Amino acid sequence: MFASTSALRQPARTTPNLVLRTIFSVFGFIHFLCLGALFMEVTAADWWMCGILFVVRMFGVTGGYHRYFAHRTYKTGRVFQFLLAFLAQTSSQKGALWWAAHHRGHHKHSDTEQDTHSPIQDGFFYSHVGWMWHEGTSETQYDRIRDFAKYPELVWLNRFWVVPPIVLGTCVYLALGWSGLFVGFFLSTVVLWHATFAINSLAHVLGTRPYQSGDDSRNNFVLALLTLGEGWHNNHHYYQASTRQGFHWWQVDITYYTLKALSWIGLVWDLREPPAEVVSGARTLSHVKRLDGMKQEREAALPIGSSVSAPSPLLAARISKNVA
Ligand SMILES: [Zn+2]
Ligand SMILES: [Zn+2]
Repeated sequence: MFASTSALRQPARTTPNLVLRTIFSVFGFIHFLCLGALFMEVTAADWWMCGILFVVRMFGVTGGYHRYFAHRTYKTGRVFQFLLAFLAQTSSQKGALWWAAHHRGHHKHSDTEQDTHSPIQDGFFYSHVGWMWHEGTSETQYDRIRDFAKYPELVWLNRFWVVPPIVLGTCVYLALGWSGLFVGFFLSTVVLWHATFAINSLAHVLGTRPYQSGDDSRNNFVLALLTLGEGWHNNHHYYQASTRQGFHWWQVDITYYTLKALSWIGLVWDLREPPAEVVSGARTLSHVKRLDGMKQEREAALPIGSSVSAPSPLLAARISKNVA
């Protein structure tokens, strides 16, 4: 069930120049900044901030960048959509449109030579972090994210993607001072980065493959706990249209539970479950891919402005009550 590293290709895209560019970047410098915590008194509040910001921002990455912007597995209103993008971007993983467009490319070419970040094709370093410093990945592929690129507020936020992390970092500094900034913000950001990136690297190498997804994606319980449910990556590659990635009750998926709770208060709706034939693995890969493709074609054909549906009756009632 575990891929042998000998099966991995020579990482041709990992050049010495790319490694140096990655290390001597703002990304590398923020790793170094975490060491600042060794030279100051760190309080319990700083560690609490570190843990809370890790969990809340991980939800932004998984429930926002991934399950909403990249895959549109559920619906929400335009204001909450913006807030989701803002929260996701506090993780400093660039703009929501940039993230989602590259991720759509990953699914389209998963573990082939065209994949943006495949450990099978290009090794651990490249699939984990190197791809972000490779020529050709810096720009947002707007042709892959037209459905969200029609919202000017999202395009603005995508362009000025550093605004959310700067706002959050400033707030943490004002609340807790330097130790809060170094531990609560920088350290949690670094841990959050590597936990997220492990899905691109390790979740295509380590774990089980219950479904024939046509690539090397894996299910990994440890990664699922660490990333609030993203570790059920083989399930997800097999059937991308589902909001729920833990197909069985024992496959812990905290992002899904959180979205379910948000649906009860009307902030999100139309969460998608995997059909029974998908969970049982009875459907062939081509059939499942056809289902995904049909959904994407249907939504791509929607007129402008219709991908964000009207608020649910419950939310509409809450909004009108607040206005009154
Ligand atoms: Zn995905
Ligand atoms: Zn993947």
